[in-house]
Amino acid sequence: MASRTPGTRRTGIAMKPAPFRYHLATDLPDALSALAEPDAKLLAGGQSLMPMANFRLLRPSVLIDINRVAGLGALAQQPGGIRIGALSRHATIETAALIARAHPILSHAMTHVAHPTIRNRGTIGGSLAHNDPAAEWPMLVLLLDGALTLASRRGARVVAARDFLTGPLATALAQDEMVIAIDLPDSPPGTGWGFAEIARRHGDFALAAVGVTLRAKDGCIADPRIALTGVGDTALRAGAAEAILNGQRPDAVVVAAAIAAIRDVLHPMTDLHASAAYRRHLAGVLAARAIRDAWRRAGGEA
Ligand SMILES: Cc1cc2nc3c(=O)[nH]c(=O)nc-3n(C[C@H](O)[C@H](O)[C@H](O)COP(=O)(O)OP(=O)(O)OC[C@H]3O[C@@H](n4cnc5c(N)ncnc54)[C@H](O)[C@@H]3O)c2cc1C
Repeated sequence: MASRTPGTRRTGIAMKPAPFRYHLATDLPDALSALAEPDAKLLAGGQSLMPMANFRLLRPSVLIDINRVAGLGALAQQPGGIRIGALSRHATIETAALIARAHPILSHAMTHVAHPTIRNRGTIGGSLAHNDPAAEWPMLVLLLDGALTLASRRGARVVAARDFLTGPLATALAQDEMVIAIDLPDSPPGTGWGFAEIARRHGDFALAAVGVTLRAKDGCIADPRIALTGVGDTALRAGAAEAILNGQRPDAVVVAAAIAAIRDVLHPMTDLHASAAYRRHLAGVLAARAIRDAWRRAGGEA
């Protein structure tokens, strides 16, 4: 499939993948069986895998194309929540009526993931398995208390998102395991949401992004959830800030205390795009916006 690149030897810069075999999986058992081979890799949308392979940061022995595996891209309402098949494209989530009804934050957040052409190919399973520290999906499944179903030839297991995302580009997936579905429990009626992100250019990975859900109960915040991405090794929940907001009116003092608690737990990195201090500052500003929007959407008083 892949060819050797003569130029590579001369320049030392590889922009083509190392040789690999290609396997078009016919069904799930076939994909899982092929995945048992050492250094096998699944090919979903290819939007992260192929750049990594082209830079030879990955040298898979075989690429297992799962795009023809029936049922992997299905969306379904189930008792107590929705199930998103791992091969669901970002663009499908952006436009699906089921998603807009169940978790409108997802429809909105997808407009921040890359560009339409990439969203047409990229998948939720690929994004979670890749776990880029600035990607939106890891933050969103953490925010919504999601759980992932992982399958291998040895059987299936369910892993909570908080246990799945273990570090930068790292997850709880074993080499021979595949994400097959993501379950998101229904949010209680009246839940409001807020999402705020800053990237250098629209479609770039986030410098920082924040998602919030909460309810308004007797003039106070109930069940607040806050998740962030782009500001640490992997997406995270801001548990201390959630505790500060819970049961409180979101006045300036309470929100300021929550923002301080968020900034306290962040360990952003400095890179070409932004300093750690700027990312930490940004996270607080974005969190305040997202809390305000969630409160308004929950029907909270002005
Ligand atoms: C220019 C550009 C800009 C981008 N901007 C953003 C952005 O702003 N935000 C963002 O979140 N993402 C962004 N992305 C990444 C994009 O969202 C990818 O689609 C996503 O990260 C990977 O999904 P994929 O389906 O393409 O996975 P692939 O590239 O096919 O695979 C990625 C990795 O996951 C593994 N994998 C795939 N599917 C599964 C599965 N079901 N189970 C287990 N392992 C699996 C693969 O083996 C590989 O290791 C960008 C990409 C590009 C090229």
